[in-house]
Amino acid sequence: MKGYMLIAGKKVFKKEEIEIHFPYDGSLVGTIPRGDSKDVELAVESAKVGFEKMKELTAYERFRILERAARLLSKRSRKFAQLLVMEVGKTINEAMGEVGRAVNTITLSAEEAKRVLGEEVRFDAAPGVKGKVGFYRRVPLGVIGCITPFNFPLNLTCHKVAPALAAGNAVVIKPSENTSLTVIKLGELLIEAGFPPEAVNVVTGYGEEAGDALVRHPDVRMITFTGSVQTGKIIMSRGGLKKYAMELGSNAGVYIDKDQKEKLPQIAEKVARGGFALAGQVCISVQRVFVHSSLFEDFVKEVVEFTRKLKVGDPRLEETDVGPVIDKGAADRIMEWIEEAVSLGAEVVCGGKRLSDTLIEPTVVINVPREARLFRSEVFGPVIAVNGVNSLEEGIEAVNDSPYGLQAGIFTDNIKAAFKFAEEVECGGIMVNEIPTFRVDQMPYGGVKESGIGREGPKFAVEEMTEIKTICFDTTL
Ligand code: NAD
Repeated sequence: MKGYMLIAGKKVFKKEEIEIHFPYDGSLVGTIPRGDSKDVELAVESAKVGFEKMKELTAYERFRILERAARLLSKRSRKFAQLLVMEVGKTINEAMGEVGRAVNTITLSAEEAKRVLGEEVRFDAAPGVKGKVGFYRRVPLGVIGCITPFNFPLNLTCHKVAPALAAGNAVVIKPSENTSLTVIKLGELLIEAGFPPEAVNVVTGYGEEAGDALVRHPDVRMITFTGSVQTGKIIMSRGGLKKYAMELGSNAGVYIDKDQKEKLPQIAEKVARGGFALAGQVCISVQRVFVHSSLFEDFVKEVVEFTRKLKVGDPRLEETDVGPVIDKGAADRIMEWIEEAVSLGAEVVCGGKRLSDTLIEPTVVINVPREARLFRSEVFGPVIAVNGVNSLEEGIEAVNDSPYGLQAGIFTDNIKAAFKFAEEVECGGIMVNEIPTFRVDQMPYGGVKESGIGREGPKFAVEEMTEIKTICFDTTL
């Protein structure tokens, strides 16, 4: 597919293009234009016009257009899923799952269009004030820049664009240069559903070029970003005075308590699925598992047994469980981190082999020292680290020993332990008897520490993407 940018509803091509490759075998999937600051300038100008046009739509009309968009996407599920497989390298089952979630995210956003609400302000609750009546409203910000990562190009873009439009904003989207084709198709679909073409713009290109220009643009009132911590920090240092929502990385931890012996097979399956879905390239992939030492050996046996059953290979095939990582560079780094952990004393008990440039066996590494990058940083690959701990307190301390804080999980039957874990673990979300990888699209989702700022989930994104305007009447004059 020859990709293009979408500016004011027009397809924009450029001489300079970026190639998109199928991560599984490196074959060419398509090209996208290498957009630059001039394209961003045009897109922002378009979005300013789009914002004026959005003001003419009622909440009901925005609701109806988003509903229509959800229906269109649902009808084209298979096509979108096939494109996701080719761009991201995720398995066809994972891709169908992402499309289903994106339909839901748009539907949830449609509903939120009706609930962009303020409330009355009691002006006369201040001493000496009489006869003043008023309220505050939530109003859209204007032009919002949406910068998205490679791993869930469809659903994560919907998490930004659909609430932004529900609240009456206009958007300029800068998708990942690895996976832009899906986002171009999404942009077209939103315009087809009825949004003003000027309100939905897609500029493709590199982060340091198109992305940077969008971040620095003074007429962009907010940058909503999902991606790595490094990029998030760069964006916030360059963007100046605007709002930011930052959905960044993590190295999610889970603790398995001493009373879980009977449930180890189910827990091991959940942990492996959470660690190896999308070849571990999920921001809430299970990366660090802390097992009470009395269960350590049994758990390792179970998790290895389950992991060995997973089929690694061509993501286009229904039977494949684990596909490739995004590119060779990512695979090189992941292998290097496994080797580093081993050189520091860890042991690979399952997997650990590279099957091609981008295919890595699902890998279980035990007794990983805390100084290893496999423990400290975000691996973003099909690897889980399993360590023993001697108590709940040690489990909490180990989960917290991370620069990140997106989600964490605990398996226990002890309600006090669950509460203590939920209270003391520093994360945006705590899952009890569930892995940290659990997410539904309506829940508040986001991190603390280096995992980010702000919350997504349409209701919460609408709050981030609006500002409060206070209106006061003097009824005595
Ligand atoms: P990335 O940070 O490399 O790129 C993300 C986006 O930022 C891309 O569109 C890229 O072109 C753009 N970009 C890069 N440099 C830029 C700059 N200087 N200015 C503006 N834009 C720039 O991330 P990635 O490799 O695509 O995605 C993986 C990362 O995303 C992981 O760290 C993962 O944890 C994170 N992630 C987080 C969430 C979440 O919800 N918290 C969800 C998915 C992925």
